[in-house]
Amino acid sequence: MGACEYLSWSRVQLYLRCPRAFWYRYIEGAPSSFTSSALVLGSAVHDLVGEHFGKLMAGEAAEEMPWASDFIGACFDEADPAVKLGAKEDRDSLCDLGAAMVTALTDHDLLGDTWSVAGIEELVEGPLIDEAPPFVGYIDLLMVDDTGQLGVVDFKTTKSRWSNATLRENSGQLVLYDALLDATTTHCSFLTVTKAKAPKVQQLTVEGSEQGREQLHEQVRHVWRGIESGTFPAHPGWGCGYCGYQDRCPHSSA
Ligand code: SF4
Repeated sequence: MGACEYLSWSRVQLYLRCPRAFWYRYIEGAPSSFTSSALVLGSAVHDLVGEHFGKLMAGEAAEEMPWASDFIGACFDEADPAVKLGAKEDRDSLCDLGAAMVTALTDHDLLGDTWSVAGIEELVEGPLIDEAPPFVGYIDLLMVDDTGQLGVVDFKTTKSRWSNATLRENSGQLVLYDALLDATTTHCSFLTVTKAKAPKVQQLTVEGSEQGREQLHEQVRHVWRGIESGTFPAHPGWGCGYCGYQDRCPHSSA
């Protein structure tokens, strides 16, 4: 599918961060010159946490994962294009940090006595606004309670604990999934974990509201108008250091 055939939360976020990077990736289809270490680490942690909840969904006992660090290492080694480590980063330390993050997330009592696992990486898709293509998304963890009420959880690996402003910045993702899920009642939250030797876990609830949906609709409407009209200005700044198009972009500040 091309950029104009569907949207996703990450596509909208990339457009908002730097429309020029969106153009390289989704309109020109240019290959990124490297894979960011944060992407590989986050993706590997998601896979391992997903495996944990998959066992619970299948009625199996949760197990420790002494091989988590090796798994993350293999993800680093197999990334294509190759991973670019930050100036102060080290592959093996990142693998150990990732393993500690997985343990912190799986030790958190997310389900309690209320929830059971209903799905992992659950596909949700559909239109959000009439004039834009449909959205596609994957819910990290879908939970259900005894009454059939659904709970949506998205896992985030973060540099530091989220402030209210960061939660506000990200809440549109869960508002979007809530809308696409089309369920009568949902409980939406982020489960965040910091990238640290002693990772900190936060469960942050996003309250659904008509105002939140309207704000999301308006944001998506503006982004789509920009894409459709070919508006892709460069937005150089700190993001250039993580951008896989910095080598070809004349505006790069990296
Ligand atoms: S290098 Fe910077 S300005 Fe250029 S596309 Fe990437 S983020 Fe945008």
